[in-house]
Amino acid sequence: MAIVNENFLKLSDNYLFSEIAKRVKAFKESYPDRSVISLGIGDVTQPLPKASLDAMSRAVEEMGDITTFRGYGPEHGYDFLIDSIISNDYLPRGVELSPSEVFISDGAKSDCGNIGDILSVNNSVAVTDPVYPVYVDSNVMSGRAGSNMNGVWSNLVYMTCNIENHFKPSLPKRHVDIIYLCYPNNPMGVVLNKEELKEWVDYALENDSVILYDAAYEAYIQDEGIPHSIYEIEGAKRCAIEFRSFSKTAGFTGVRCGYTVVPEELTASTSDARRVSLNKLWNRRQCTKFNGTSYITQRGAEAIYTEQGKEQVRNIINYYMSNAMLMRNVFEELGANVYGGENAPYLWLKTPDGISSWDFFDHMLYEANVVVTPGIGFGPSGEGFVRLTAFGRKENCSEAMNRIKKWFR
Ligand code: PLP
Repeated sequence: MAIVNENFLKLSDNYLFSEIAKRVKAFKESYPDRSVISLGIGDVTQPLPKASLDAMSRAVEEMGDITTFRGYGPEHGYDFLIDSIISNDYLPRGVELSPSEVFISDGAKSDCGNIGDILSVNNSVAVTDPVYPVYVDSNVMSGRAGSNMNGVWSNLVYMTCNIENHFKPSLPKRHVDIIYLCYPNNPMGVVLNKEELKEWVDYALENDSVILYDAAYEAYIQDEGIPHSIYEIEGAKRCAIEFRSFSKTAGFTGVRCGYTVVPEELTASTSDARRVSLNKLWNRRQCTKFNGTSYITQRGAEAIYTEQGKEQVRNIINYYMSNAMLMRNVFEELGANVYGGENAPYLWLKTPDGISSWDFFDHMLYEANVVVTPGIGFGPSGEGFVRLTAFGRKENCSEAMNRIKKWFR
C-alpha cells in the first residue's frame, strides 16, 4: 500500500488567489458592463527586453544546426551566464564569487521551495509575518511546520512585521536554525539597510543559523546604500544562501530563469556535530533532481548583461517604479497610510477604520472596480492591510488610481 506524504493534507488549497478569482467572477457576473482593473497580480506585463529576444532567437537557430546543436547542459548552468552574473551582479558590489557557488535554475520559487531538501526536518524555522507563502508551505510539506491552529503553524517562529517596527522584524527571542528573509520584501515593499541586515548576519553567525535570503526584487532598489545582496555584509558567506530571479528583473516570469548562490564557505552541522558544506549538498541535490535550465533561456538571461540589455532592463524597472510612485503619491494625497513602493514594486496599504482585508477588498472591487490582494493572505499580521502591485500597464494603473481617488473622496 502506497502511503501519501500526509503533510500535504495539512495544507489548505491556494485559498488566497482562488478566493480572489471567485469574488471577481461573481462581481463580473453581476456587473458585466463594468471593467475591472487588477492591482493584485504579482506578474509582469511588459514584454521581454529586445536584447534577450534577439539572443534567444540566435540560440534557437543554433539548436537547429547540427554543428551548434546542444543537448543536456551542465545541471548548474552554463559558464557564460554564471560568469556574467558574477561580474555584473556581484563584483561591482565588492562580492567575489567562484563559478561553483552560482547555480542557475528555472526560478527562485523552485529554489526557495527545494532548498529544504538539504536541511534537516528537525530544524527550527523563522519566517516574517506577513510572508511570501512559499517559505511556509514548503516547510509544511516537508513536515517542519507542525500543525495549524487558526492560520498559525505550531513549529514556525513568526517574526511580526507591523507599523510599530516599520515592517522590519526584530531578531527572534528564541534560537532558530533557519531564517527566511526577503528584501526588497514581498508583500510589504520594504527594504533593509546595511546596518539592519548586519544584525541578521551577526545573529546567524552567533547562533549557527542559516539565512535563506530571497533577493528576487533587488533590481527595484533605488536608494544608494541599500544592499542588493546579503554578501555585501561581512561574514554573510558563512551563514547565508541567496536566491535571485530574472522574473521581475527582466520579464522572465513565463520564460523561467533564476539562480541561487551557495558559498563554498557555508557549512552546517550533522547530528553528530561534523561540519558539512551546503554547496556540496545543493550541487548533489541539483545534479540528481534537476537537469538544467534550457540553453535558449540562459542565452536570453545572459543578454540582460549586455549594454543594450542593461538599458532595456533599466527602462522596464523605471516603468514599473513610475507606477509605484504614482500610486504612492495618490495614496499619500488621500491621507492613507501607505508603505513600500520606493525600493520595491509593492505597496502595502493600511485599510481605513480597522476594516478587515477582505471587507476592504470587496469595497474596492464593488465601489472602485479595482482588485487588490488582501494582506491576511500573507499571514495573520497582514490583517488590516492590502497589497498593491506596480506591475500593471501604465494606462491601467493611472485609471485605477483615478477610480480610487473618486472613491476615497
Ligand atoms: N520570491 C518572491 C519573494 C516572489 O515574490 C516571487 C514571485 O512572485 C518569487 C520568489 C518567484 O520567482 P520566480 O518567478 O523566479 O520563480
